[in-house]
Amino acid sequence: MSIVLLGVMLWKLVSADGSHSRENQINYSEFMAKVDEGDIKEVTLYLGQNSYDLWGRDVRSDRGFHLTLFKEAAPAVTEQLREKGVVVKIKEERSADWVLLLLNGLPLLLLAGFCLFLMRRVQAVGWRGTKWQPRETRTGIGYDLHRLEEGRPLIVGGIELPFDRGPVGHSDGDVLAHALCDALLGAARLGDIGTHFPDTDPKWKGAHSLLFLEHAKKLLADKNFAIEHVDAVVITEKPKLGPHFPKMREALGKALGIPAEKIHLKAKTNEGVDAIGRGEAIAAHVVATLSSR
Ligand code: MG
Repeated sequence: MSIVLLGVMLWKLVSADGSHSRENQINYSEFMAKVDEGDIKEVTLYLGQNSYDLWGRDVRSDRGFHLTLFKEAAPAVTEQLREKGVVVKIKEERSADWVLLLLNGLPLLLLAGFCLFLMRRVQAVGWRGTKWQPRETRTGIGYDLHRLEEGRPLIVGGIELPFDRGPVGHSDGDVLAHALCDALLGAARLGDIGTHFPDTDPKWKGAHSLLFLEHAKKLLADKNFAIEHVDAVVITEKPKLGPHFPKMREALGKALGIPAEKIHLKAKTNEGVDAIGRGEAIAAHVVATLSSR
């Protein structure tokens, strides 16, 4: 497509130059008359192989005019013009100079452009990313549940909610962040949250779960995966989660390096049934969609 456009532009330029030449060609008498009237004060003599081309700009009409000279006549005409106070510049034949320059320089320009593109691509995704690979979409599912106990902070989606009970867990017990982490790792075939952050490791005791998501983001980036969409449902009898969703989406999006718009959250109760329904636990289900870059 680019080559076709370039060809059209080139043809237009060449054809425009030709018509321009024909339209503005005048004879020797007309040219000199303009000189005598002071309309042409500066000329350029282009030296061609077989003939010379004399160009001058009419300062009154702001148009360029030219005439073709025999080589033999050029010295006398030049002298005559200089005697009339006209500034004479002499240049090599200009016709098609720029075309030749463009044609010769174009492959180099294209090569430099391609090298620049390749360099940026390598910087962005590494050598593996430069290989052509079909785009792939992956989906992962995550689930988590934590018991709720009085006097513990309730952290959901990376933010603390005002409530008299909170999850029991090795880390901060954020069911939404844990289920989301599992969904992302599952989609990328990278194991699960327990593999990367074992609850036997004291390092993760009381850890903020957004750290898990930040780590998952790096693992996905290493595998050239991008997060396309996250859909989640959090199940708890109390408190109401809906009003807190905007802040949760912001916090989760920030940890994962994606816009909050890519994260969709929903809330459910268990209608008083089972441990969740009795307010003894909180759970989350998450589905995450990734694409390869
Ligand atoms: Mg958990």
